[in-house]
Amino acid sequence: MKPDILIVDDVVDNLRILSQTLKEQDYKVRSANNGATALEVAERVIPDLILLDIRMPGVDGYSVCHQLKLNPNTKHIPIIFLSALDDVADKIRAFEVGGVDYIIKPFKVAEVLARVKNQISLQDAKREIVQLNQKLTQLNQQLEQKVQIRTEELSIKNQQLESVNRDLLKEIKAREKAEKKLLKDAWYDQLTDLPNRSFLLREIAESLQNNINDPHNTFALLFIDVDRFQVINDSYGYGVGDEILVELAKLLAKNISYQDVLARLGSDEFAILLKNVSDSEYVCHVATKINQQLKSSLRLRDRTFFISVSIGIAHGSSHYEKAFHLLRDADIAMHRAKEKGKSCYEVFKEKMYLETLKNTELEHDLRLALKQKQFHLNYQPIVDLQQNTLVGFEALVRWQHPHKGIISPGEFIPLAEKIGLIVPLSDWILEEACQQLSSWQHKFAHDPNISTLTISVNIASSHLKETNFLEKLELTLKKVDLDPKYLKLEITERALVDSNHDTNNLLTEIKQRSIELSIDDFGTGYSSLSYLHCFPIDNLKIDRSFIDNLDSHGESYELVKTIVILAHNLKMKVVAEGIETKEQLEYLRSLGCEYAQGYFLSKPLPAEDVEIRLLQGSSYFK
Ligand code: C2E
Ligand code: MG
Ligand code: MG
Repeated sequence: MKPDILIVDDVVDNLRILSQTLKEQDYKVRSANNGATALEVAERVIPDLILLDIRMPGVDGYSVCHQLKLNPNTKHIPIIFLSALDDVADKIRAFEVGGVDYIIKPFKVAEVLARVKNQISLQDAKREIVQLNQKLTQLNQQLEQKVQIRTEELSIKNQQLESVNRDLLKEIKAREKAEKKLLKDAWYDQLTDLPNRSFLLREIAESLQNNINDPHNTFALLFIDVDRFQVINDSYGYGVGDEILVELAKLLAKNISYQDVLARLGSDEFAILLKNVSDSEYVCHVATKINQQLKSSLRLRDRTFFISVSIGIAHGSSHYEKAFHLLRDADIAMHRAKEKGKSCYEVFKEKMYLETLKNTELEHDLRLALKQKQFHLNYQPIVDLQQNTLVGFEALVRWQHPHKGIISPGEFIPLAEKIGLIVPLSDWILEEACQQLSSWQHKFAHDPNISTLTISVNIASSHLKETNFLEKLELTLKKVDLDPKYLKLEITERALVDSNHDTNNLLTEIKQRSIELSIDDFGTGYSSLSYLHCFPIDNLKIDRSFIDNLDSHGESYELVKTIVILAHNLKMKVVAEGIETKEQLEYLRSLGCEYAQGYFLSKPLPAEDVEIRLLQGSSYFK
């Protein structure tokens, strides 16, 4: 847009010249020839610049300027004064009333143009600055708004952050707690608060290292197992069992010094690591003391409990490579203490490990043996001493091991009981023996001496404890078609001593089915005949050990005589086992002993050999 210039002069020529000159320079020009008109024109449309003559009739230039400056609409219009006066005072006054420049008449066109241009540029620049300022203000406002929004956002974020921080802190604390618990669970037993197996193994490893560094630094491990703890759990419940373990832990703790470690290995197993052991007798002394303290009984919930423990001791030495080897050896020794009769201790010896290893191998082989049918039965004749006739056989199991040859039942029957194989094995034996007798009865049905023979089968105590024993027995007899009266079950004296009311009922039921019952190995189970009288027993088998000693005419001589008399008083028949000499046989016959069995008469024979002899006539066995 063209700059708008108002020229105010009372001299028409001046107005014309200035107007023309400026128009030529592409300005828009308006003019007024007196002050009053000038004020009116300027108010109506605001010019960009006013060229204002000072000397004019009526309202002079100063007054016009003064009034323009008073009016807020016009006060900013730049005013260049035109004057013929070249007085400094006039110039000063011109600037005082608000003029921006001053041109002296007669004016030179070039000067006027230069000064006008100058003021217009200045005016433009001012306007630009104003615009810029406005923009700046606007920008500042926008910026402030943004800052405010951002600040609010940040405040919200801060709050969120604080809450997240609080949650994090909570989580960290929870984790720390969980970590502590995990650590405790990893190293300590929950029931007794004692160190656990892992803790103990770490301590043993440290002791082993100390011993390597300094051989005088000796130590020993006691492996402690509660005797018959399962009976306590079964009879009184696990709650009482747990309380007993806690009490036991307290008692054991009294027997160790601050540097020793008492740990619970699990269930009813504890261990004590005795450090700085200078004397092996001291270790045995600790073991003895523990069982002595236990003898004074334990009182819990108004009940008295009699607890004993079996303890295995292993002495630490540098030949142990791993901590758990020492634990293993102490465990082996503990099992020896159990076998020895419980409530005692045993010190580990190398040969125990080798034997355990052998048993482990045997255990493995035994599991395979049943599947692979490596068992067979031998039959040992039983003879009537008074009539000199064969009355039956005792079935005796044999294990034909693929590499080790024949293994005797004395070796594998206890093992089969231990590993839970005795029931399937006994089921097989019972059926096989009954089947064999049934088949001989059919084969020799014409010979009454043979068709009335009996079969004696040894019954393991855990087999007898099977809830469905009677049912299986009946089924077996039916299956092989054998009359029950030809079957005799041999139960060891020891099994009867350990029996309960249920066993007695079962034996009565067996008897009611016409099956005979014999006490085997009599004299080895520490029972009395009057005690055995409570059971419905038909036959009593005197253990071989008494017959063995008969020849020496020692104590056994009188003992066997007494046993036979007492057994007869109790209406039992007597079988003498292990007769190896004619003298033994004659003596027993003279005592009135009914039956005899032994190598002197016949060794246990395979079924085929028995059959050959039966074919030759049953009297062969006399
Ligand atoms: P047991 O029932 O007392 O069997 C008699 C043992 O004495 C048999 O040993 C037999 O071979 C042996 N014997 C017989 N006469 C003589 C003799 O004159 N001299 C000597 N030195 N020994 C004689 P075996 O067959 O080694 O059986 C040992 C034990 O193993 C048996 O003692 C019995 O308790 C158990 N047993 C054997 N077979 C079975 C079975 O089928 N089941 C169960 N549960 N146990 C069995
Ligand atoms: Mg027997
Ligand atoms: Mg026997």
